[in-house]
This record gives sequence, C-alpha cells and structure tokens, in this order.
Amino acid sequence: MLDIQKIRADFPILSEKVNGKPLVYFDNGATSQKPQIVIDAEAKYYQEINANIHRGVHTLSQLATDAYEISRVKIQHHINAKFSHEVLFTSGTTHGINLVTNGFASILKPGDEVVVSSLEHHSNIVPWQMLCEKTGATLRVIPMNEDGELIIEAFDALLSEKTKVVTVNHISNALGIINPIKYIIEKAHAFGAAVLIDGAQAVPHLKPDVQDLDCDFYAFSGHKMCGPTGTGILYGKEAWLNKLPPYQGGGEMIKEVTFEKTTYADLPHKFEAGTPNIAGGIVLGTAVDYLNNIGFHNIHKHEEHLLEYATKRLLEIEGLKIYGTGKNKASVISFNIDGIHPYDIGSIIDKLGIAVRTGHHCAQPIMNFFCIPGTIRASFSFYNTKEEIDVMVEAVKKAKTMLS
Ligand SMILES: *Cc1c(COP(=O)(O)O)cnc(C)c1O
Repeated sequence: MLDIQKIRADFPILSEKVNGKPLVYFDNGATSQKPQIVIDAEAKYYQEINANIHRGVHTLSQLATDAYEISRVKIQHHINAKFSHEVLFTSGTTHGINLVTNGFASILKPGDEVVVSSLEHHSNIVPWQMLCEKTGATLRVIPMNEDGELIIEAFDALLSEKTKVVTVNHISNALGIINPIKYIIEKAHAFGAAVLIDGAQAVPHLKPDVQDLDCDFYAFSGHKMCGPTGTGILYGKEAWLNKLPPYQGGGEMIKEVTFEKTTYADLPHKFEAGTPNIAGGIVLGTAVDYLNNIGFHNIHKHEEHLLEYATKRLLEIEGLKIYGTGKNKASVISFNIDGIHPYDIGSIIDKLGIAVRTGHHCAQPIMNFFCIPGTIRASFSFYNTKEEIDVMVEAVKKAKTMLS
C-alpha cells in the first residue's frame, strides 16, 4: 500500500488553498502536479550546469550534454526502446505527432488511407487531416459504441492494402477508455501499415513497453507525468526514423542544404534541430525516476480504487450520467447531470477549491457522438484520496441543488 500522505507531502501545491479552500486537484488529465524533487532539479540545472549541449568542449557543456543524454537513456529503458537514438526529445505529444505527419507527407500518395479513431484528441486528428489534404490520402475513422469503446470489427473492416498509417490513443483523455492497442498494432501490421500510438494519457498510469507493443511510433508529454511543461518524447523505430525526412527546416530546399550537413547523419540529432529544452529534458528523467520509485504497480492499484470509489459515489447522485462506461478504464470519469450545463457545475465547484475540467476536452467528435456540449471530467492521480472524492461529490450535490 502507498503512503498517500507521505506522497502528498512531495507535492507543495497540494497543500495550497484555492478560493480559500484546500485544493482538490482532479485535472490530472490536463497536466499533473510536480513533486519537489522535480522542481528542485530544474533549479539545480540552472544553478550548476547550465550550458548549451553538443557544442562546446568546455566542462559545463560536457556536463549538460551528459545529463541530457543520461536522461534519454533513462527514458529508453523506461519504455524499453531497443536503442537510445529511437528516443527523440520533443516539446510534447503534439510536437511528436506533427513530426511524424510531416514526415509522411513525402510518403503518402493519393488513394492511400490513414486510419484514426473516433476517440482521438484533436492533436491526433488535425495533423493527420492536414497530411491528407496535402497528399490526397483519405482519412478513415474507427467508430465507437455507446460505452465509448472502439468497435473492433469496424476497425478490421477498414483495413486494406490502401492503409498506410493507423493511429489511436493508448488511453482516451475524454473518457478514460483503454484501447486494445496491441491488437490494433498487430492487425495494422498485417496490412503493412505503420502505427502511431498517442500515449499522452497512458504514461502517467502505466509503463509502456514499445518493443512488446511493437508500435512504430509512441508519442507522449512530460507534463502529464510529473515532468515539466514543454517536454515530451517521440519514440520511433530506427528504420522509420531513418526513412522519414527531418521535421524542422521543412521546405525542400532547406532539406537539401541541411542534408549536406553532418547533423543529418545520425539519429536522434536529425530530428532535434536547435537548442532544445535542456533543463526540461534532464528533469523529465527525474520525473520518470520519481514515478518508478513509487512503482507503476502501486500507482495502478491506488488509482483503480479511486476510480471504483468515485464511480460508485457519483452514481449516487440522481440524474448523473457517466460517459465512457467500457470495462477497461483508467482513472478518469467524464459525467454530466441531467439538464445542467457542465460549465455551471465546474464553476461552482471551483469556488469550493475543486479543479476539474469542463468542456469538450479537445475531443469534439466524442461530444458530437453523445450529442452533448461537453462533460465534467475528474481525472485522478496516485496522489489523490478518497476523502477528496467525498469533497467533490458533496460539492457536485450542492451545485446540483443550486442549479436545478
Ligand atoms: C494532452 C493530450 C495530447 C496533447 O498533449 P500536449 O502536451 O498538449 O502536446 C494529445 N493526446 C492526448 C490523448 C492527450 O491527453
């Protein structure tokens, strides 16, 4: 069992007050809070070893470069990538996905097909739409059912030799549904398609094994897993990263000019033009260590309890409907109360110190599917407690009374 109070003491913000009330932070799906060790590591970098990396021969530059590369290897081991040069530092999931879609612009042809799912975050829809517009490829969408699960038979039927890329999220940010990605990857590969997994919502809850999954790309953000904002990782299989053109530089002219430069020769530098978020990249390694010290098995157990408890307690409220009722779920609950706009509930409970997300959660197609403007989303982390869930349930009840 986790000592939650001890863990909570690692996060200074959790003892803050918001609107005069103790903060109840249930917006972990948008970004997680940061432990002191991560906050300190960021300052320590600037205090002790700040220098540009891969450039100078001077000592500080060497120290900064070493710390950055040690972090890359740490993340390589964390996700079980075969090589450290398959681990690219990005500014986040959005950046990673765009890096890949940009690369596929030189691969896809009219008539080719890209398969996305109806459960995607806008970050994993819009770049593929832009790619299809650019190349003349067609976007196909895996439909979902009323429980918020992908309809797998429909996915099977979408696949053909025209399918060049399949992309789905590991866990849906809007509903918390865990997708059967291993099956999806295997099926897509049988048709020769590449697979990108949007792991943004998965990495705070589990440790992905990219070799076991056998995905071609896996993108995630650092800020949702206790790391700094503006950090992220794109894992790509070596063969694909060698095949894709670099992202930054963009235009064909620049591509050639840059091609003569040494930077292109080696992964991962081919995709890491310019001075990166050095501190962020190093500190993302600190965050990964922190999570591994707690242990993903322990995180899973605790979050599963929270999900179960919150689901039961929320359903005590009459007129409350949960979206995403599939069996395989992460600790995310999206809900509405009959006849009340989610925004109104969100605003009232915010006054009571409770942070939840309201709106479409960057997943408008899901809201359209359910014919709703949005939901209230409570997303739990390992540092949340049952007591906090009780506070939220009472607050939602109060808001309901005020609004009906
Ligand atoms: C948050 C999120 C993104 C976007 O991540 P950024 O950090 O904003 O780039 C993409 N997909 C999913 C599923 C997300 O939850």
